[in-house]
Amino acid sequence: MTHLVIIGGSDAGISAALRAKELDPSVDVTVVVADAFPNYSVCGLPFLFSGEVKDWRQLAHRTVEELTATDIRLLLEHTAQQINPSQRTVQILDSTGQSHLFHYDRLIIATGATPIRPKIEGIDAPGVYYLRSMADSFALEHHLTHRKPLSAVIVGGGYIGLEMADALTLRGLAVMVLDRSENILKTVDSPLSWIVSAELQRHRVEVVPNVSVEKIISDGKNLTVFGSPNFQELTSLVLIATGIQPETTLAHTAGIKTGKHGAIQVNRRMETNIPGIYAAGDCVETYHRLLPQPTYLPLGTIAHKQGRIAGANAVGYEQEFAGSLGTQVLKVFDLAIARTGLLEPEALDTGYQPLTIETEAWDHKAYYPGAHKLRIRVTGDQRDGRLLGAQIIGHYQAEVAKRIDIFATALFHEMTIAQLSDLNLSYTPPFGSPWDVVQVAAQAWEQSRSERTHDL
Ligand SMILES: Cc1cc2nc3c(=O)[nH]c(=O)nc-3n(C[C@H](O)[C@H](O)[C@H](O)COP(=O)(O)OP(=O)(O)OC[C@H]3O[C@@H](n4cnc5c(N)ncnc54)[C@H](O)[C@@H]3O)c2cc1C
Repeated sequence: MTHLVIIGGSDAGISAALRAKELDPSVDVTVVVADAFPNYSVCGLPFLFSGEVKDWRQLAHRTVEELTATDIRLLLEHTAQQINPSQRTVQILDSTGQSHLFHYDRLIIATGATPIRPKIEGIDAPGVYYLRSMADSFALEHHLTHRKPLSAVIVGGGYIGLEMADALTLRGLAVMVLDRSENILKTVDSPLSWIVSAELQRHRVEVVPNVSVEKIISDGKNLTVFGSPNFQELTSLVLIATGIQPETTLAHTAGIKTGKHGAIQVNRRMETNIPGIYAAGDCVETYHRLLPQPTYLPLGTIAHKQGRIAGANAVGYEQEFAGSLGTQVLKVFDLAIARTGLLEPEALDTGYQPLTIETEAWDHKAYYPGAHKLRIRVTGDQRDGRLLGAQIIGHYQAEVAKRIDIFATALFHEMTIAQLSDLNLSYTPPFGSPWDVVQVAAQAWEQSRSERTHDL
């Protein structure tokens, strides 16, 4: 019997376990999970804090009972301490402090990522929180329930910081978002980032750019956040949302190679440099379909897919991860912001000759109630018209996510922007137009490209 040990029981680890079991029911699968919450949707945490999701238990993709019913052995509150590749063993510490040695034939590392702790004096003060795990969420919820804070400072204007700004505002707190850069949400171009800032401000979230937080001082009740230049703010709680880093301590000690951002190097079969050991999810580098080099894109949608490939290959299949395109979407108050592929500077760095054109058009026929304008930025290669990326911003009920997925599908198939116009997309006035807004944006790009070519 093949013994498959998986370290990590979140998106990547559980996807791997389920796929391995599905393809080979005879395999003995053990999933080692440091906490007691396997297969929870941490992506849903902001909506738990906002109150839109009522109970944290609803965030379980699958319950422990559902998982164990698939004949997967779950070792909850067990921490893998060391991997010995020559002996094919993993040393595991249980919750009582007892150490156990587990033999594996195949091992999958799915240890995810941990929040970056920026160098801020006083960052360990009570009242300073992170948001990555269920334990983080319980700690923050305890503070919100028992201390009833009136305000919050969020350090970091990335997607988690912004989702939490929305959530804590809905929860009744006065929220301030600090970012050390000029713009928040750097995953989209500045013109779209400014719209997001305006939306936050419309909901009374104060956005303060160009602040580098240096010190946090607690007086036992409140916190004062100091930053440069000349920044000072008294608040009831601080959330640090300055990004994450891959959790690779175990991998390092086992001699597994790391690369981009310190993430584990894997090939498209999700194999590490050590035979029999695979890795997937936020702890690994990612093959990107538009880039010559691997990149680091820690997203749940990718972790699930990589986990599935690792699980299949660990039981003898030969499958390859098809690659990522950095497709993502988030909701901030009434806005949805989505992006796939490359931004213009990334495309330029990669050797493409990018041109980005922005278009504004209705999401569905304007005469039908509830129409919203969408702004779409399309990036393509001026030489051959190949689609390189797209960004969309608009009302969250205007199908922004599914429209970015049209671009993502086109990117996957290396389509030209002109070919987007040929797609037979659906149409009825409440939902779209005979030329969908995606196609209107594609045609605007084509027109602009031909005008430029003509001018040359
Ligand atoms: C607030 C928030 C919102 C998000 N929203 C989105 C979204 O909308 N869309 C999206 O695509 N992504 C989103 N993400 C990102 C997504 O959640 C992650 O990409 C995904 O959870 C990664 O899964 P993973 O399995 O690789 O790692 P993780 O979720 O980090 O899980 C790691 C697992 O490894 C275990 N572990 C670690 N070390 C050990 C050890 N030594 N021994 C035993 N177990 C160990 C942990 O307990 C955990 O079970 C969000 C993340 C957060 C925090």
